[in-house]
Amino acid sequence: MDIIHLLPDSVANQIAAGEVIQRPASCLKELVENSLDAGATRVQIIVRDAGRTLLQVIDDGIGMSEMDARLAFERHATSKIREAKDLFSLRTMGFRGEALASICAVAQVEMTTRRTEDETGTLLEIHGSDVVRQEVCSCPKGTNIKVSNLFFNVPVRRKFLKTDQTELRNLLNEFYHIVLVYPKVAFTFVHNDEILLELPVGTEKQRIEAIFGNPKRNVYTSNFVDLNTETDLVSIRGFVIKPESATRKAEQYFFVNGRYMRHPYFLKAVQTAYSGMLTSDYQPSFFIYFDIDPEAIDVNIHPTKTEIKFADEQAIFQILMASVREALGKFTLAPQIDFDTSGTIDIPLPTDKPVEQPQVSVDPHYNPFHTRGAIYPNQPTPKNWESLYDGLKNERPQSGINDAAQLLNDGMLRPLDAEQAPMWQYGGKYIFMPSAEGLLLIHPRRAHIAVLYAQFIEQLAHTQGAMQQLLFPEVIALQPDEMVLMNNLLPDLRAIGFDLEQLSPDSFSIQGIPSQLANQSPLPVLQNILHQVRSRGADTQQEWREQIALSLAESAAIPFGKVLGDAEMHDIVTRLIALPSYRHLKDGKTIVSLVTDEELAKRF
Ligand code: ADP
Ligand code: MG
Repeated sequence: MDIIHLLPDSVANQIAAGEVIQRPASCLKELVENSLDAGATRVQIIVRDAGRTLLQVIDDGIGMSEMDARLAFERHATSKIREAKDLFSLRTMGFRGEALASICAVAQVEMTTRRTEDETGTLLEIHGSDVVRQEVCSCPKGTNIKVSNLFFNVPVRRKFLKTDQTELRNLLNEFYHIVLVYPKVAFTFVHNDEILLELPVGTEKQRIEAIFGNPKRNVYTSNFVDLNTETDLVSIRGFVIKPESATRKAEQYFFVNGRYMRHPYFLKAVQTAYSGMLTSDYQPSFFIYFDIDPEAIDVNIHPTKTEIKFADEQAIFQILMASVREALGKFTLAPQIDFDTSGTIDIPLPTDKPVEQPQVSVDPHYNPFHTRGAIYPNQPTPKNWESLYDGLKNERPQSGINDAAQLLNDGMLRPLDAEQAPMWQYGGKYIFMPSAEGLLLIHPRRAHIAVLYAQFIEQLAHTQGAMQQLLFPEVIALQPDEMVLMNNLLPDLRAIGFDLEQLSPDSFSIQGIPSQLANQSPLPVLQNILHQVRSRGADTQQEWREQIALSLAESAAIPFGKVLGDAEMHDIVTRLIALPSYRHLKDGKTIVSLVTDEELAKRF
């Protein structure tokens, strides 16, 4: 008996669909790209439940004839290429003729479509590749595709979907990738009956402002300078952020011939152009559009891949870097900057001066290491910030058998009494401290982050963050995807000591912040949290809390390079080695490093 057979189309399509349509965002991308390929000037997107139940795209493009409407859902049916060689000179977004076939294999699709020249349109309904209805209908010119119950027949894929807010964020990101290159097309994005984005026709800059800034004020794009370079090989245009306006939260977009792309190598070129201009862990925002002969790139890797191969990457790297430098050079006020240093620099801090006492306001009763702290709102503030560490002597962790075992487990330290041990800070940077195995080198900022992190986690778990009311509440404006995030984080943010009140559909007022951060400006602290949760893809409450705690700890911790007083140094280290795990931060960065006696001996 023969055992080889052809898979029925519906099964083959489902398998292929898994590649093309992985989540609602990939489905949206395909549908919107089709609308743009069809010459639409206006595209409406209607989404329900982050695309699980409904993804609808309505366009005013060329529409399809009755015959084409039916053919469009067949695999490898496309109006966009005819021969294999066409693949190398693509100017349209789609070309494989796979998207609609894949979508209708894993969803319930209803489409109406009409060409301008036709009196009547076509209605087509397909459930899991089966055509259940095809009839003549009356409908506006253009195409209206409704994709319902995505993955209704593929439970595994359905289960694979993330939370609604993650899928919605993915949808919006995919949407941004497209709309940023089509400013001459109007878009609306509606989610659960709420208009999240209304993008009128405009310039690229106006489009960027409409998404990331505020179209009425143009404040966002005023932070950018123009980029413009023409060479025989490539033309590069766009906008790059002024170094002084950079933040941790960066919007980084590359496009090539009207397509979004990720390109780590080119990203490096941009970062290199900024080197020496940005504070450490700040990132440049940019929107850079490449135009290049389609034959010099290969987009035919995979429909879902956003990586694109260039024939001449090294040359483009150089052109891009020079172009960004030139744009920045025109506007930067620091011509002495050495462009050839690579990497970013740490916050410059005096390292060789005697202990300085910055004038900051803190709650005198607040103990940063007190894990069961009470709430002390509105206390008068002392001038001496070191009082932050007052009271620690009484709060020292109990060193007992468990701690000792833990220290041994950590494989480095024998139990030692950090409070009594001699310590010395070298050059205002690392702390040196003897231990039974050798010399310990401790990174003070990271140590402080670890200590604060543990404390914030504890406070989040017990809803007992202490709050400092702000004299002057600040307003944080949020993009739609950040708004989704904010609403998820709100209970935890309040638990840790933020006093937040929604002002409008896209803004909150910050009226109080966790008292450990009382000396910080609230806006960047909060923006940083949102950025971290978003960029590290935290999905569950547990993950959010970790990111909130980490972000707050990073904001509140002493800067690297700060000269520490003796008591302060001892307190941080004592607290540090009382933690269950203290050698590394969660992201793997080393806090404590050991130079053994043998290593020392070898040096002599
Ligand atoms: P591809 O875009 O790769 O050609 P698709 O499966 O996405 O493949 O679409 C198949 C064909 O259906 C397209 O080539 C196009 O002719 C037609 N089509 C799809 N969507 C639209 C639309 N919104 N308006 C007009 N024609 C469309
Ligand atoms: Mg397509």
